[in-house]
Amino acid sequence: MELGNQRSSSNVEDRRGIGMVGGGIGIGGIAVAVVAYLLGFDPGTAIQVGQQVSTHQESRPAAKGAPADEMGQFVSKVLGSTEDVWSAVFKRSGAQYRAPTLVLYEGQVRSACGMGQAAMGPFYCPNDEKLYIDLAFFRDLQARFRAPGDFAQAYVIAHEVAHHVQNLTGQFRKMEAARGGSAAQRNQVSVRMELQADCYAGVWGHYAGTMKQLDDGDLAEALNAASAIGDDRLQKQTQGRVVPESFTHGSSEQRVRWFKRGMESGQPRACDTFSAATL
Ligand SMILES: [Zn+2]
Repeated sequence: MELGNQRSSSNVEDRRGIGMVGGGIGIGGIAVAVVAYLLGFDPGTAIQVGQQVSTHQESRPAAKGAPADEMGQFVSKVLGSTEDVWSAVFKRSGAQYRAPTLVLYEGQVRSACGMGQAAMGPFYCPNDEKLYIDLAFFRDLQARFRAPGDFAQAYVIAHEVAHHVQNLTGQFRKMEAARGGSAAQRNQVSVRMELQADCYAGVWGHYAGTMKQLDDGDLAEALNAASAIGDDRLQKQTQGRVVPESFTHGSSEQRVRWFKRGMESGQPRACDTFSAATL
């Protein structure tokens, strides 16, 4: 990626190296796991029931603004790029974009949706409008999912930002509405939500391309990442078999296809997975 001319976003909270104090297993463990499930934490495999919650406090306040280190700068510039793109897209339809905050953390983190753990992968919490990214996931992308490259990492951030866009546009409420349904119905809604987020990440990629922020090979990196973190691929890696009813993000092929749709069109309305007859 070419982010040299991109401004860094200051909507970053650096909670790396901030320890947690306190302890005990909160009674909210299972409830948090359910919330995590409904929100479609990424990648959807590693949600653990019975996490420690609620009694932890962070030992000192987080640093605000773009961090100075290379990884922190990269993340802040990608976030800045998503802010520029989505502000313009919202403006065109007469709306105003409210930017989310990106929280960098290590190990575990307190969010308004409960405790987050690195094992869950990156996630978005609509209650505090923050995206939580553990940089260890980027190392995982490379080592475990074999999806290296800076644009692969940017894609992950753009996907979480896309969940924030869904929150602003009211799409997120569909998850809430599905809560009373069967597990299969909830998974269906979750898959549509996730594929729409992939498509929105593609919309960002479209404009990042027109802003000359992409290099040759970046698209291939993003598609490789989208494909590597498809539910079928993840399930095969973690369980050795594929159970489509339990997909919460969509298959590798679907994730790639919806990302491409956003990338090629640059149009959020091309991302209506909820009206699509086939995904
Ligand atoms: Zn997602």
